[in-house]
Amino acid sequence: DPSSQRACTIGGNIAENSGGPHCLAYGVTTNHVLGMEVVLADGSITWFGGKGRDYPGNDLRGITVGSEGTLAIATKIVVRLLRIPETTKTMLVVFDDVETASSAVTGIIGAGIVPAAIEMMDHFCIEAAEAAVNAGYPEGAGAVLLVELDGLNESVEEESEEIESICREFSPLEIREATDPEEREKLWAGRKGVLGALGRLAPNYYLVDGTIPRTKLVDVLRQINELSERSGYKIANLLHAGDGNLHPSILFDERKPGDTENILAIGAEILKICVDAGGVLSGEHGIGLEKQEQMPFMFTEEDMAAMTLLKIAFNTKDSLNPGKIFPTGAACGDISQARAIARVGPGAYI
Ligand SMILES: Cc1cc2nc3c(=O)[nH]c(=O)nc-3n(C[C@H](O)[C@H](O)[C@H](O)COP(=O)(O)OP(=O)(O)OC[C@H]3O[C@@H](n4cnc5c(N)ncnc54)[C@H](O)[C@@H]3O)c2cc1C
Repeated sequence: DPSSQRACTIGGNIAENSGGPHCLAYGVTTNHVLGMEVVLADGSITWFGGKGRDYPGNDLRGITVGSEGTLAIATKIVVRLLRIPETTKTMLVVFDDVETASSAVTGIIGAGIVPAAIEMMDHFCIEAAEAAVNAGYPEGAGAVLLVELDGLNESVEEESEEIESICREFSPLEIREATDPEEREKLWAGRKGVLGALGRLAPNYYLVDGTIPRTKLVDVLRQINELSERSGYKIANLLHAGDGNLHPSILFDERKPGDTENILAIGAEILKICVDAGGVLSGEHGIGLEKQEQMPFMFTEEDMAAMTLLKIAFNTKDSLNPGKIFPTGAACGDISQARAIARVGPGAYI
């Protein structure tokens, strides 16, 4: 399900406990991994979990999923298979602005409907996607919602009618629907092509990954827009809106002196906004090297020390992905975000 599906591996999905557009209804990686063969830091090979849904003893599988490769390396993975749904329907709903689109999302979820996916793109994303894939969004489109429903024919039909009537309360510019796979693919084309398309607006973008309570969408997006205006950097907003997972993408030019430092600072500010709104530092991309310095936004030194004890329990001697996730200094500041990303190399901003 991750949008990086063509490039990523299941091992990487496990390390990051990845999600994607459909995790609103289906959950994230940990909900689909039953067991895995792992190599521990001392070179020994063992299994965490197995082929069944529940496994006796501590849930070492659950602890390892999302540990960003710091506890063990997964070498075989048993996943839970799901039936292909009888019907899948995709709806594209176009609004004037993100505020109205966000209210429609709240309306849908508030009505007790949990679609398989609710994705949102703002006007910068629409502009880029339109130029790249000619998605045919109407003039004046300020926000696009992609809603996907799947399941039994009858329930999909009933829920799509309900969603349409909720969306109509917010005066959409257009509603399109498709059940045919090719037509559905066309509706998804703008969303799936948007990250590459951002290259039409700026040479680089830095995609931030934070999650907020869905009820705070309007307020947080307003704060991000204010930050964009204050800083002079355009921020394109792409959201897994159903579960409040934001991907504000800061547009910049790494050849301009100071741009990289500035956008990293803006990214940190966005994460602070997310945490202050009751959200979290990451929706699906993890912490890695990039967000170590922001860990104290959410966790106390005691919290982090407690989490670090896991490495001792796994006896990793910090040989597996050393230096990742936790700030390494007592003051949590010795690995600067800029240095961390510089280590990864220019261009690695997504
Ligand atoms: C364009 C784009 C879109 C993206 N969209 C999404 C999205 O929708 N949802 C989402 O969750 N993420 C997304 N991501 C982030 C990323 O692709 C995912 O987190 C993905 O799961 C990482 O998998 P990978 O194979 O690329 O891992 P890598 O980037 O190669 O590695 C990530 C980490 O996992 C560790 N690792 C890799 N394999 C193993 C293993 N077998 N055992 C233990 N540790 C391991 C590595 O050491 C590293 O620390 C996106 C990224 C890009 C570039």
